[in-house]
Amino acid sequence: MPAPNIDTIVSLAKRRGFVFPSSEVYGGLGSAWDYGPLGVELCNNVKQSWWRWIVYDRDDIEGIDSSIILNRLVWQYSGHESTFHDPFVDCRECKSRLRPDKLDLPEDAKASDVADLIRQKRVKCSNCQSTDLTEPRLFNMMFRTMLGAAAVEDDPTSLAYLRPETAQGIFINFLNVQTAMRRKVPFGIAQLGKSFRNEITPGNFILRTREFEQMEMEYFVKPDAEHSKLVDEWVEQYIEWFKGLGISGDNLQLHEVPAEELAHYSKRTVDIMYRYFPERPEEPRQWEELMGIAYRTDFDLRSHSSKAVDGEGTRINPDSTEDLSYFDETTKQRFYPHVIEPAAGVNRTVLAVLMDAYSEKTNDKGETRVILKLVPKLAPIKAAILPLAKNKPEIVGMAKAIKRSLQPVLRAVYDDTGGIGKLYARQDEIGTPFCVTVDHQSLEDEAVTVRDRDTWEQERIKVSDLAEHLQNRLKE
Ligand code: ATP
Repeated sequence: MPAPNIDTIVSLAKRRGFVFPSSEVYGGLGSAWDYGPLGVELCNNVKQSWWRWIVYDRDDIEGIDSSIILNRLVWQYSGHESTFHDPFVDCRECKSRLRPDKLDLPEDAKASDVADLIRQKRVKCSNCQSTDLTEPRLFNMMFRTMLGAAAVEDDPTSLAYLRPETAQGIFINFLNVQTAMRRKVPFGIAQLGKSFRNEITPGNFILRTREFEQMEMEYFVKPDAEHSKLVDEWVEQYIEWFKGLGISGDNLQLHEVPAEELAHYSKRTVDIMYRYFPERPEEPRQWEELMGIAYRTDFDLRSHSSKAVDGEGTRINPDSTEDLSYFDETTKQRFYPHVIEPAAGVNRTVLAVLMDAYSEKTNDKGETRVILKLVPKLAPIKAAILPLAKNKPEIVGMAKAIKRSLQPVLRAVYDDTGGIGKLYARQDEIGTPFCVTVDHQSLEDEAVTVRDRDTWEQERIKVSDLAEHLQNRLKE
């Protein structure tokens, strides 16, 4: 049973130290969220799982970490300065600012018809139902900043942007990585890090924020490769990866992005959607994008290249000093590799993982307990070591020693902040797979009780076998 709605996760996340509203002491900051002690561990585990899978387990992908602030020309030639716009509509009645694709449009209406429909008063504000809406206007979503101490507000030479995607840092390093690592096409370059978009309508917790983290990979292939088939293959691989993070296939769905909605660089995009809104009665409104897999053609490498020319033979990029083409030794041909790009969000993955892991169970006393059934590799804490009596120095000493001995092989914590029932409930709610209880008997027989989060079953294990026992069970 996944979480019934995002709000359930918002309150669990705050209560138990996963995610806090940012800048709360000053009334918050719209869409910003801070990751607490358990949230940072969960995010790190998602990122580590991705990096291991995409960079270490495969033999054809390299990792990089490029700057967040790049030369402004990168964004000029990538097309983001001129096209990374989102339209918005204002409601004159309630003053809400809305994205046209989130408006209640008449059935069969296309996003491109919005301006006409607004003029005909056939679109309602999703907040107050008024039809008094402004026509859509465009807004560039890149965050602007100024570089250097001498920078003044309107000096175009110091204008820079916070990156809205990690992908461009990969494209401009294509040749560096290819030559340094002596790679042959096909191969990929992966990057993980923060991106920034001045979203018009952020919201729904960590689903849409202005600062977020991406896990992107650009897979470079030949111009005559089967691009569409490769998109399908990456979709399949990512579905399997998400399932391996504990997300049920029932809550994943594919969305073929219609041609008129494709980004300026894409020939085909398939989005993997997650059921973030199970509470909505209309099934199609339950889904939102978790990630996208796009066929970006050779658009970006050509755009950043010094020698690429357009149909009339004019240089596309007179500012670039490098040609990012690739020479194929076997065919003796030079070309701009084409790109398949799986682009996923850390935060949306974390939210999907939390929603899918959420479950409730009733104990013997009829009380409902929350259990976060995280797959062990994502659990922030793998084992909690709990003393049955915290006023008994021998028991406390033994529990602390066990915690220290486990730490080198798995993330363990010592906790004596409540009675054993409360401690178990807390660890269940934060997804700790195992609780290890040290009791009076332990002092005699050098054994402890290991309690399973999901079944609540307990077994007695010798302290000398504990690390191996837990490691084996964590692999299950
Ligand atoms: P949307 O249509 O939801 O705005 P997008 O199609 O613009 O998303 P992409 O450019 O494909 O998103 O970015 C790849 C991934 O980065 C998304 O699938 C999502 O997981 C993540 N992402 C993008 N924008 C945000 C955001 N504002 N907040 C959190 N994650 C985001």
